Amino acid sequence: MDVTHIIESLNDAQRQAVTAPSQSILVLAGAGSGKTRVLVHRIAWIIKTQDLSSQSILAVTFTNKAATEMRGRIEKLLDYSAQAMWVGTFHGLAHRLLRRHAHEAGLPEAFQVIDSDDQLRMIKRLLKALALDEARWPPRQVQGYINGHKEEGRRARHMPETGDLYQRQMLTLYREYEQTCMRSGLVDFAELLLRVHELLRDNEKLLQFYKQRFLHVHVDEFQDTNTIQYAWLRLLTEGKNNLFVVGDDDQSIYGWRGAKIENIYSFQSDYPNHLVVRLEQNYRSTANILNAANALIVNNQGRMGKELWTEDGDGEPISLYAAFNEQDEAYFVVERIKKWVELGGLRSEAAILYRSNVQSRLFEERLMSGGIPYRVYGGLRFFERAEIKNALAYLHLIAHANNDSAFERVINIPNRGIGPKTIEDLRSVARDERISLWQAVNKLVLSGVITARTKRVLNSFIDVINNLIEQAEGLALHEKVQRAVEHTGLIDFHKKEKGEKGEARVENLQELVNAARQFDYEEDNTEGLNELDLFLAHAALESGEMQGDQYDDCVQLMTLHSAKGLEFKLVFIVGVEEGLFPSPRSIEDPSRLEEERRLCYVGITRAMQILYLSYAESRRIYGRDTYPKCSRFIKEIPSDKIQEIRMGATISRPVSMAKSGFSPRQQKTAFQLGQRVSHVKFGEGVVLQVEGEGAQERVQVNFTAVGMKWLMLAYAKLEAIA
Ligand code: ATP
Ligand code: MG
Repeated sequence: MDVTHIIESLNDAQRQAVTAPSQSILVLAGAGSGKTRVLVHRIAWIIKTQDLSSQSILAVTFTNKAATEMRGRIEKLLDYSAQAMWVGTFHGLAHRLLRRHAHEAGLPEAFQVIDSDDQLRMIKRLLKALALDEARWPPRQVQGYINGHKEEGRRARHMPETGDLYQRQMLTLYREYEQTCMRSGLVDFAELLLRVHELLRDNEKLLQFYKQRFLHVHVDEFQDTNTIQYAWLRLLTEGKNNLFVVGDDDQSIYGWRGAKIENIYSFQSDYPNHLVVRLEQNYRSTANILNAANALIVNNQGRMGKELWTEDGDGEPISLYAAFNEQDEAYFVVERIKKWVELGGLRSEAAILYRSNVQSRLFEERLMSGGIPYRVYGGLRFFERAEIKNALAYLHLIAHANNDSAFERVINIPNRGIGPKTIEDLRSVARDERISLWQAVNKLVLSGVITARTKRVLNSFIDVINNLIEQAEGLALHEKVQRAVEHTGLIDFHKKEKGEKGEARVENLQELVNAARQFDYEEDNTEGLNELDLFLAHAALESGEMQGDQYDDCVQLMTLHSAKGLEFKLVFIVGVEEGLFPSPRSIEDPSRLEEERRLCYVGITRAMQILYLSYAESRRIYGRDTYPKCSRFIKEIPSDKIQEIRMGATISRPVSMAKSGFSPRQQKTAFQLGQRVSHVKFGEGVVLQVEGEGAQERVQVNFTAVGMKWLMLAYAKLEAIA
């Protein structure tokens, strides 16, 4: 059997890790050194040399997209299909195990996964039911408390009823929340992980089955595993010495979500005969980019310490752009992307990375008005939009009418005249009798205690759901979805909404029907579920991977967090400002600040050829005007690696702000950089530069319709617009 092709493209250290005899292995190495590549080749190598079925492999990746890519790359190396291989995210794999073993895991067969937004809504309802004030018990804090304990493997019943009022109240909330979830068959993300851990821990036979099945277990991005994830890896591999992990302590960026860098140390003591392989050559970035990243990260204390070098040349210096304001920053970035494309680059090779999702909007607007296709990862994902969640809630009710969360979401959407008082009555019946809201509504309409009007409106809702359930029989998935958006009145409801918003929502609902039509799943992996259940689980677990984008070649927009593991030829890290990146909350806290620095290291090391950093000297964000300073991270990069870009403006601050039109008799310019203006012939645009004085004063304006123009102020009839 010829296996040389699997290792011929590897360096010595990589080859050592790939071909090592079966044992536990830790590949500890910096960004771009080929860790993911080693993992892929290792899997192909053991399947081939040990003549294994791909069934014997378990591989954990960080995103679903990475899982698909990994499978594809392994199949290419093997030259046959690896469909039977279990590869996915911790959450995806947990979901799969729980579907197979719902009964053993103590879950109803038809359990549904809820995302963190649904979870938050449930917590809000719970607070209301317990008459607790949201100001005193902030729902997000409660959510953090519950998830934090679940991630550490602690159930409410494990926790002592001691402590102050706060502690006890939180514990009560946790307990009540668990009960509500159980009653309505709902499983949140943290629960997926905890359940699987308990399932394996408490079912010796099941555990042995999977231990025998998964001869080799692999984990990418190991530095970001949390306690419970590590605990289930331990269960599956204990005594077997077959865990292969790759990671980089400098890229640990999910501490705020419970990830533990310490798992790297635990691995070393838990697997005594392990092999550690270090990779030091970086294959991704130019020397300038790599050295900038290296110089930044040495500012962190207590690193495991790694060397990283490249054979690549210096490449371009890193460009730093001090934008006048956030509009100017977006304008600048999009112009550079246009240049890149003009010079023959692909749009998909360019990525805009930001610290916070709210930053994406301006770039989206710019790209849109420039007619440049783009795709946003994360953020308000397609499946998280309100209109989509409403449609999904109806689908959930078709699948499982006892789903309280879905029920509450849509009982009065579109408006059926079911008021808060009636909903409160339903809740109290459900609470008192320990039944679901669906059961409660059916009970209530039969009782004599409600008015004829209430009965009528409740019956109208019941009829909608019952009709959907009846009609769903025998329909294809997309037809079910189609009915759910039409027969419930959702489409009409949004059609009546005024303006573009309503239109966009109708389009999104149609896109959902489309998504259902295209929904594709592996026949082998359905775990006995019907298509609708699979689709709903997919909607909860996917991360923005099914946005309706017609173009493959589009600019990539994402947070720095979601860029982990990826690489792009051209990278923009935007908003590199104190108080944005590092984030405001990290500035006072040394360990959080280090995590932000690691995030910056992750960002920089995504770039292969060209890297731009930018910040704005004034920024309107969260409805406030701010005047941020450039981030300390920029100052930590040696200045000889950075080239500052100026747009040649002779002034960088506004001279004065024009409230209304411009008059050439004015002594000072009436235009601020970034000011929106309108011109009789060229239409609307934004002022980018101002030069000269008096009669010679000219401005450069980027017009939406015609692009850049220099105009003499004395002649051009420019008007400032708000
Ligand atoms: P990160 O820490 O960002 O996840 P990584 O260590 O997983 O990075 P990879 O993504 O596996 O690194 O590899 C980085 C790039 O270097 C990829 O484009 C990969 O194909 C390339 N590469 C890795 N090793 C080699 C090699 N031996 N020869 C040529 N290219 C390589
Ligand atoms: Mg990687």
